[in-house]
Amino acid sequence: MSAVWIDDAAPASAKASFKIERETHKLEKRLCREVGRAIVDFNMIEEGDKVMVCMSGGKDSYGLLDILQKMKARAPIDFELIAVNLDQKQPGFPEHVLPEYLAQTGVPFHIENQDTYSIVKDKIAPGKTMCSLCSRLRRGILYRVADELGATKIALGHHRDDMLQTFFLNMFFGGKLKGMPPKLVSDDGRHIVIRPLAYVAEKDLTRWAEHRQFPIIPCTLCGSQENLQRKQVGAMLREWEKKHPGRIESMFSALGHVVPSHLMDGARYDFKGLKATGVASEDGDKAFDAEEFAPATLPGLQVIRL
Ligand code: SF4
Repeated sequence: MSAVWIDDAAPASAKASFKIERETHKLEKRLCREVGRAIVDFNMIEEGDKVMVCMSGGKDSYGLLDILQKMKARAPIDFELIAVNLDQKQPGFPEHVLPEYLAQTGVPFHIENQDTYSIVKDKIAPGKTMCSLCSRLRRGILYRVADELGATKIALGHHRDDMLQTFFLNMFFGGKLKGMPPKLVSDDGRHIVIRPLAYVAEKDLTRWAEHRQFPIIPCTLCGSQENLQRKQVGAMLREWEKKHPGRIESMFSALGHVVPSHLMDGARYDFKGLKATGVASEDGDKAFDAEEFAPATLPGLQVIRL
């Protein structure tokens, strides 16, 4: 998209479409910048990698593939992309949608057909949640497909808000300070899984999906209940952000600035063996002082210094 100037005397409709074009251009730049930053910060993609991009048909996976394709065209390194969709044979799954879309992107792709839906329906009692067995089966199949395709990385479409939600879910319901890592070794120890959208806000992916008019496949076809706890945590975070703009950004930043000496995990920090060093440190703990934070800024509120 190239920069365009518009005359002050232009009609309102031209000004409005110019504004939309400029906002979309900024959004595209932001998406590419944040994906690029995550790739570099965590060394997600290296020269010669074959990245298997998992496509569910949701807005996030479409956005992931789309942005990675743009990054590949500009990247100083050479890597391959291959899109993979696992068709789990859920009733009503529109099986032509992804192959048609992927064919016109020019990205090589593979559709894996495995009827996990029947297995899950058979094994799980009606009314019980099917997600844990379903996702276990899906994970195993995707690892096998990655091997068969010679993929060196498996890319998933989780974004910043998914990662924060997972952090709070683990804290509220699992009693752990544990999030969703941007890069990890798979549980079978054989694959590197990456999340290039780690720094991307969900609202940006929603806007990008609208702009690109991705053919989104609904995620409720299996008939399973939505994860109520995740929905509640998502609503809680949105509410906080509404009341205290910048809070999501601050919490997300905290995930990358962990201070083990100021938590309580003896396995991460040797509290028992702690000894005074006798050396003063500006960054040392001023244990008797109250912590000071920058004043919270609220929209429309100015800090007046006297
Ligand atoms: S929502 Fe449906 S498709 Fe998704 S993990 Fe749960 S059971 Fe599987």
